[in-house]
Amino acid sequence: MTIRLYDTATREVRDFVPLQEGKVGLYVCGLTVQSEPHVGHVRSAVNFDVLQRWLRHRGFEVTFIRNITDIDDKILVKSAEQGRPWYNLAYAMKIELDKAYAALNVAPPTYEPAATGHIPEMIVLIERLIERGHAYPAADGSGDVYFDVRSWASYGELTHQGVDDMEPAADADPRGKRDPRDFALWKGRKESEPATASWPSPWGPGRPGWHIECSAMAGKYLGDAFDIHGGGVDLRFPHHENEQAQSRAAGGAFASYWMHNAWITTAGEKMSKSLGNTLSIPAILERYRGAELRFYVVAAHYRSHVEFSFDALDEAAVGYRRIEAFLDRAGTGEIGALPEAFATAMDDDLGTPAAVAVLYDTVREGNRLLAAGDDEAAAEAARSVAAMLDVLGVHPADPAWAGTGSSDGEARLTAAVDALVAGLLDERTQARADKDWARADAIRDRIKAAGIEVTDTPDGPTWTVS
Ligand SMILES: [Zn+2]
Repeated sequence: MTIRLYDTATREVRDFVPLQEGKVGLYVCGLTVQSEPHVGHVRSAVNFDVLQRWLRHRGFEVTFIRNITDIDDKILVKSAEQGRPWYNLAYAMKIELDKAYAALNVAPPTYEPAATGHIPEMIVLIERLIERGHAYPAADGSGDVYFDVRSWASYGELTHQGVDDMEPAADADPRGKRDPRDFALWKGRKESEPATASWPSPWGPGRPGWHIECSAMAGKYLGDAFDIHGGGVDLRFPHHENEQAQSRAAGGAFASYWMHNAWITTAGEKMSKSLGNTLSIPAILERYRGAELRFYVVAAHYRSHVEFSFDALDEAAVGYRRIEAFLDRAGTGEIGALPEAFATAMDDDLGTPAAVAVLYDTVREGNRLLAAGDDEAAAEAARSVAAMLDVLGVHPADPAWAGTGSSDGEARLTAAVDALVAGLLDERTQARADKDWARADAIRDRIKAAGIEVTDTPDGPTWTVS
């Protein structure tokens, strides 16, 4: 058994060989805590949670670091707009993010370092880069320090680009830069920025650039060389290219494998705040259970682009309920043996679509066995199903779901109300067909009195709580 992973640096599926036998160092770029998490934000966390579960299942001891970026331009701009301290916004959004992760059964990483807690490590790293001739303080007195991309011949190797083809780095005023592509390691404090958002440094008060945060934190917790670096595909350039350039220019080997999950988009666009709140995790969890949403995310291959739709989420939720119903009927959720075909699919670059197909096949076979009265064989199938669900982090009996009771309860309540309203609407449809208008109106009034607004659509009536 060998795990094979697609390495985005070499652009090929490679056998996974860890630096130290039996151990894996995994670093995943976490989120910038600046707004309520939406479904596009949490895909990376779910995908890499599946990866660490699979590595552990295969017997590796995993040190998993997922950072949070709690200071950056966006946090400063948003907190100023909202008239609150930047650290207040960052902390509030961190709490929201933790809730979303818990609701989706994303296990906490081994450590979750915050950027603001690692400024001294970043300063040491920047000093080393200056000493080695790969970084320089801006000559304009701004207090900025830049990475000198021309000094590092391998710059662009991660994303297979030549320096001359790259866009200028838009992270700081370009006046003090030797090359417009040089990126900020340290940003001197601007008059307009709050004093609390700056830290003392050899170059004057300021704050770190985004990329140096991850290089410093990965180095601190995983060492100069580690196994896997992950994140969303949108982070490949400039963020990951710059992380790798900094860390290697400072003398480390950095990551052996790079893994990038694709986006969840809607209407062909990268999901953004402009879509409003309907896709925020709390909003989705009013309609679906965390396990259903996670199952939807997990069923797609992590490198496949997902076009989000509530229809597709419905379909995944229905599929998941069928699996739960089978476990109920078979009378066991005990964890048994993992089918070989499932393991083979997971070893092949986390092939979750093929793994989920094995899951569905096993449920189908189990239902057939139940129908045939072979309860013992059906129970064995159920134990296999439970093992697969457990590895994917969606076992219905996982105690993790207990902590998310309110959303679970809300989704069940919605389903119950839906069934009751549907029954009443059927009666109203029948009354209308019978031209019993008084009765049809009475039913409508009764629904309305319960605070439910019914809208007739070509596909039949729908309802909302008014
Ligand atoms: Zn990062």
